[in-house]
Parts: sequence; C-alpha cells; structure tokens
Amino acid sequence: MVPAKLVSSSGTSMGLPDALAGLLAKLGIHHPADALLHLPMRYEDETHLTALAAVCGTVTQSRPVLIEASVVSTEVRYRPRRQLVVRVIDQDAEADLRFFNFYPSLQRSLVEGARVRAFGEVRPGLYGVEMFHPRVRVLRGEQALPDTLTPVYPSVAGVSQTVLRRLAQQALGSLSLEDTLPPRWADKLDLPSFEAAVRLLHAPSPAVGVQALEDRTHPAWRRIKFDELLAQQISMRRHKQARRARSAPVLAARGALTERLLAQLPFALTPAQQRVWHEIEAELRQSHPMNRLLQGDVGSGKTIVAALAALRAVECGCQAVIMAPTEILAEQHARKFAEWLTPLGIGIEWVAGGQKKRERSAALARLASGESAVAVGTHALFQEGVEFHHLGVAIVDEQHRFGVRQRLALRAKGAAAEPHLLMMSATPIPRTLAMSHYADLDVSVIDQLPPGRTPVRTRLITSAKRAQVIAHVRDACRAGRQAYWVCPLIEESETLDLQTATDTWQALTEALPDLHIGLLHGRLPSDEKASGIARFASGEIDVLVATTVIEVGVDVPNASLMVIEHAERFGLAQIHQLRGRVGRGATESSCILLYQPPLSELARARLRIVYENTDGFRIAEEDLRLRGPGELLGVRQSGVPLLRFADLATDQDLLELACKAAEHLLLHDPARALAHVERWTPEAGALLKA
Ligand code: ADP
Ligand code: MG
Repeated sequence: MVPAKLVSSSGTSMGLPDALAGLLAKLGIHHPADALLHLPMRYEDETHLTALAAVCGTVTQSRPVLIEASVVSTEVRYRPRRQLVVRVIDQDAEADLRFFNFYPSLQRSLVEGARVRAFGEVRPGLYGVEMFHPRVRVLRGEQALPDTLTPVYPSVAGVSQTVLRRLAQQALGSLSLEDTLPPRWADKLDLPSFEAAVRLLHAPSPAVGVQALEDRTHPAWRRIKFDELLAQQISMRRHKQARRARSAPVLAARGALTERLLAQLPFALTPAQQRVWHEIEAELRQSHPMNRLLQGDVGSGKTIVAALAALRAVECGCQAVIMAPTEILAEQHARKFAEWLTPLGIGIEWVAGGQKKRERSAALARLASGESAVAVGTHALFQEGVEFHHLGVAIVDEQHRFGVRQRLALRAKGAAAEPHLLMMSATPIPRTLAMSHYADLDVSVIDQLPPGRTPVRTRLITSAKRAQVIAHVRDACRAGRQAYWVCPLIEESETLDLQTATDTWQALTEALPDLHIGLLHGRLPSDEKASGIARFASGEIDVLVATTVIEVGVDVPNASLMVIEHAERFGLAQIHQLRGRVGRGATESSCILLYQPPLSELARARLRIVYENTDGFRIAEEDLRLRGPGELLGVRQSGVPLLRFADLATDQDLLELACKAAEHLLLHDPARALAHVERWTPEAGALLKA
C-alpha cells in the first residue's frame, strides 16, 4: 500500500495549491490517508428544519438549529452599534438575524421576499427570537436538506471547512478502507469495521447520538482509538525487534571488580536492588543492546546499581559513561563514583560544559584512547568530538529530562557495536504510559527503600504564617539540623525566578542573622554551584535557598527540613522529587508546603494529593489523571508521537486489547501489521520526495 500524495512534484495534485498544502501540513495532513484520519471534533445538524414558533418563547437553545424563512426587511442600524438586522418570517413566527460584521454583498442578497436558510443559535429577543451571526444561504428553487450531520474539523486560519470536507470525501472515495484486522479479531472486539467507523465519523446519520460522537464514546470512535493504539503498539514492537537484531558488546565477565565493590560498601544491597542488578546483569550478557529503564522512587538507591553496571563494562574491558541533566547532579555522581571506584584503581573522567577547555580536551583524549574507563558528566558528553575507545554501557540519569535525540546521540558513541543503555528515573511511569509510549523499554523497578529511613512529614501552611515557618527553621538549625528553602521556577522567566530566590535569600539573611544562608540557582557559574552544594553538604551552610536546580538527586543526609515556597505552582511529581531530598538521615524530616491563598479548587485537590500520599507511583497516577500524559515525564520532548485520539486515562481497556492484537498480528500476519502502521503513519519519506 503506497500512500498517494497530496502534493506532486509539480506542486499540485488534487487541485491543491502550494500555500494550501502548507497550511494542511500544519494540521498534520500530508497524504490523503491523513485526511481520512483527520476526524471531526463536532457536528452541526442541518438535516431538518426547526419552525420559529417551536423556539419562540423558549430560553436560549443549547444547540444551534436550522430555520427556513422569508426576508421581511433588511436595515443597517447604528445603535447600540453598527449592525445589519434582517427581519424574517416562516409559517407563523418572526425573528431577527443580526450581523455585526458583514459585507455589502450580504446585505444586497437579503432582499425582501428572498427565501433563506439560517443556521445558528436562537435566543429570545425584544421582538420575538434573535439569531446572532447565523450562517445564511439564499435559496434558489427547491433544495434538499443534507441527510447526514455536517462535520466540523479541527482547522487553522486559511483552511475552510469546505476544503476539509472535500478532502475527507475524496479520501473516503479513493483510498482502500479494507480492514487491517483479521475478521476474527474484529468480531472479538465487538467494534465496527474500519470502513464503517470512518464513514460514520465523517458523515453520521442524524440518528446517531451527537453526544456519543462528541465525547468520543461511540463504537466508531472506540474503533478508531483502538486502531491508533494498535499502530503504536506494532511500531513499538518492531523497534524492539530491530534492536534485537543489532549488536552490542557481550559483558559476561566473572565479576571480580563488582564483587569487590559490593564487599567494600558500608551497606548491603536491599533485596530490590539485588533483583534489579540481576536483571541488568543478565541482559548485559546478551549480544544485543539493552534498552532498560531503571525506575525507583527518590532515595531508593539507583546510583549504586548504575555503578555496578558501569563496573561490569570495565571488568569486561569496555568503557562506561554516566550522564546527568544538571552539573550539580553530575558532580555528585562523580563524587560517589570516585568514592566507590577509586579504591579499585579505576579513574574517573569529568566532562561538563563549565569545564576549562584544556582539562576537557585532556579528558576526552584519555576517553578516546581508552586510557580511562569511566566518564561522568552532563549534556557535554553528547557533543561531537566526544569519542570512546570501546563504550560498553551508557547510563542516563533522570532520563525524562533528556530528549530522544540525545539518547540516540549517546547510542552512536559506541564505535563498532552499540553500547547497552540504562536509563534511570525517579518519576514513576504509570502503567498505561509504560505500556504505550514506553513500550520499547524494558523496565526494572526498585520498589523498596533502604532501611533506616524515617518518613517525611508533610505540612500545608499558608504563606500568611511565614514568620512562624521562619522561626521553625531557626530553631531546627540551632538544634544542628539543616534546611532547604525552595523557590519556584516561574516559567519562561528566568529573571523572575532568580528574583524570587534572591529576595527570599535576602529576607532570610536579615531574619536569621546568626545562621549561614546560602543561595543556589541555575544562573550561577558551575564552580559556584558546586561549592555551594559542597558547603551545604559539609554543614557550613545552615539554610540553602535554592531554585529547582536541587530537584534532582542532591543528597545531603543532614538536611531534614524543607520549605517549598509557592507550592501551588509546582508539579506534583516535582514536589515529590523535592521532598525526597529530605528524609535521608535518621532524624525525623519534614516538608512544609507554603502556599499562597486563595487556592483554586484544582490547586487544592493537587496539593492534597502530595500531602496525603508518600508513594511516588500514586502521585504520578494522579498527576496523569489531572494533567494528561503530555505534561508528565516530558513525553512531549521524548520524541514519541502523542496519541491524537486515544486517551490513556479513559481507554485503558482498548490499550490492553491493542497490546494483545499487536502481538498476534506481528506473529501471524505481519503483512497486515505493516499495512496497519502505514495507514496510521504514511511513510514520512513519501512527503520528502514530493
Ligand atoms: P536515588 O535512587 O534517588 O538516586 P541514591 O542512589 O542517591 O538514590 O541513594 C540514596 C542514598 O541511599 C545514598 O546516600 C546511597 O548511598 C544510600 N543507599 C543506597 N543503597 C543503600 C542500601 N542498600 N542501604 C543503605 N543505604 C543505601
Ligand atoms: Mg539519583
């Protein structure tokens, strides 16, 4: 099935000029197949006439109606503002049609005695009913009413509904609408065929309930959503199969170094850490690249597992790299890795943006020659010119902070074979998301915290009680504890963001003259950031005022109090992450969520979730429910296309079915599987060639 093109090499086909094709591209319509799946968002019912008498005296109609009437008079009035008022009459009632913006041609066509059809909302007016800006058409002779509902498509300026309707009808007439599901599956699903579904959605009969169409619960919609999910599932599985066909270094050494690391640790791995390490270890022995997500709540101890994976590469004669999204976090990894690996005689190379050029090139040279086995750093590791001698394992911490392109760049750093990829995240992926957007990943979960942690007590306090909170911080610090004071990131305004943090720092410095107050934000030069964290870690600083730069990974066990300023502005998963910075030592920790009243209903509901839950999974599920998947986890930037129709929050049953169907099709009927994917994502190349 080669998709036909909307635009031929001469620039037009199907009568489309370039400019229109460009606008359609904005709507995601590149091929006729895209027009087929560009589905209406709502419908208008012009299939029957409504008598004016029937709507006279009623309150505003919730749905627009179609009336047919004769023009009695037409005049332009200037009060209260310029408008064209057209008085019309049908069998036995009159109405005013009002237009505030109109062309003279409209006025000319609506002469006395003209028969018109007007479509719009009717509301009671001073003299009978009124219609504001109805869509009017002057009738010439008899004209039959349409027998289907009129679709209204999502559009952009410059693309009329007429064009979209025509494209949809052409697609319905010219494309194969053959079902890509084997008949047995279609029966099992108890859903209409693909053809029946698209025909119905583009032109439903008025007998079909508009409500079920518009809230997308109609079986035709369920079929479309199922097909969309199925296409996604098939693609994901094919990616996975393709990965199995690629090669990666087999890391199957006896494990002398990993054994020694485990023996020298001041703690024993938790059973959960042991389990995930075995899962990872087993996959590193394979000759195809691993693509695994290591998931574990904040503080669950992912870093040591990463170190073991890195060490496994080293003991097999390969190199390893670990990368973090911020310099602060990368620094911390560098410290941890140095603490663990230096006693084993393994040097660590540091690669980051803020580094001196000479130092960086020396580090890169040692990595390229293979002299150094382990690299720790930031985004700088993705850049061109970073080469490894024989990269075996690449680790990405807080993976949702990175785009898919960066992950691919890292993958390409392996010379002959691809490295194994281990991604880590403390932001739990709800099951539905894991099954859909992340279906190409294998997942290992650390579902247990190391022993000896005391749960964090969370409190919600209005900012009106700020003075009490400051007094509480003072008392805690006098008793030898340390505190974080986190200020919100105000989107798109780094300056404002900085302002909040700086002001808070100023205010706290004045209010608490006997304490050392530190300030940490993203604009500081990286060595100042690092020394700030170091001084906080050593206890020299009592209170660290910070922006969300500390969100990921900062580990200072003596810090047992956190204040989050303007908590209502934070994402739930983010608060959970931040809160994970405390509760790392033996003292009871607390997290104060300072909010600015009044709170909206939604803000209240959201804060209650973090207040009541300590389980990151629960919080992520709720976040997904409240905000949709796009906001969570940066799926948007992950490069995986978002679903257009299916909704993971409500269509979980379809997702489960699509998983099974995808497996079945790929196994028993790969040709159909391919045809199905092509219908949903017509070959991108065809467009480029056009
Ligand atoms: P995260 O999963 O959030 O990255 P870390 O790897 O930073 O967590 O671990 C949090 C803290 O717990 C670190 O100080 C780490 O050394 C410690 N830790 C990790 N595993 C264990 C364990 N099994 N027992 C005790 N402490 C541990
Ligand atoms: Mg971590």
